Amino acid sequence: MAENNSGEGEALHRCEKNIMLVCRESKNGRTIIKVGNVEFGGSTLVVIAGPCAVESEEQILTAALAVREAGGNVLRGGAYKPGTSPYPFQGLKEEGLKYLNEAGRIVELPIVTEVINEKTLGYALKYVDIVQIGARNMQNFSLLKAVGQANIPVILKRGYSATINEWLNAAEYIMAEGNDKVIFCERGISSFETATRYTLDISAVPVIKSKSHLPIIVDPSCSSCVNKYIIPLAKAAVAAGADGIMVEMHPKLQDALSDGMQSLDRSQFLELCNQLMAIEKVTKTFC
Ligand code: PEP
Ligand code: MN
Repeated sequence: MAENNSGEGEALHRCEKNIMLVCRESKNGRTIIKVGNVEFGGSTLVVIAGPCAVESEEQILTAALAVREAGGNVLRGGAYKPGTSPYPFQGLKEEGLKYLNEAGRIVELPIVTEVINEKTLGYALKYVDIVQIGARNMQNFSLLKAVGQANIPVILKRGYSATINEWLNAAEYIMAEGNDKVIFCERGISSFETATRYTLDISAVPVIKSKSHLPIIVDPSCSSCVNKYIIPLAKAAVAAGADGIMVEMHPKLQDALSDGMQSLDRSQFLELCNQLMAIEKVTKTFC
């Protein structure tokens, strides 16, 4: 076929001045972030799962066993929950971090938790392998700088009102402080649509991949906030080239203290893992 010389390529791929560390052209090849035996941005899909919030020692351990059994790679659990409303469960705080750490050690999976300010980052660094900056803190610049000074992989969720450019700049804040282990996480953006709580921006996957060398994962739980849409959205993300998926999974959905409606139960999570494995095989053939 004749070369398509649309002229768009050069402008699109030129490294933008403000994201010189995050942009694709700043290094040869893509960044692979290793956490234990798990590789973000490598050749296999990473599946992160666990409850929205750590609720008890028993709950997180039961969830951890289910994550491992289904073939998940990383255990999640929130100990500090920055809810839209101040009234729902706000997390067990350091006690939750201890239970999460214990469960992770028992099932031998790396663990991730959300940090909401510099103080909680200090606690999290003692207990977890990866920290998460939530959508509501994507432009908390002092937190971004603090995480940038810590030597720990970071999942940087997209703010639901943030453009991709603002998100790339948030990642630059972290990298500019010396931490190059940044993983983007698309989790849905605000739109006029009300059938789902947020609108999953699948375009973010190929756009981030063309603009940055960093890995990108997708959270289909937080984006739809509807149990029955999680599996189809996760499959769409993988087909679009996401490096991983983060889903909320609760061993007893009806008792969940946080985000039960957007969590999978154990058998649904197993089903998701089986379906993702099948898709991964197909996408590998084509990519
Ligand atoms: C979460 O992962 O539990 C969460 C609060 O996510 P987000 O920041 O995307 O809303
Ligand atoms: Mn949640």
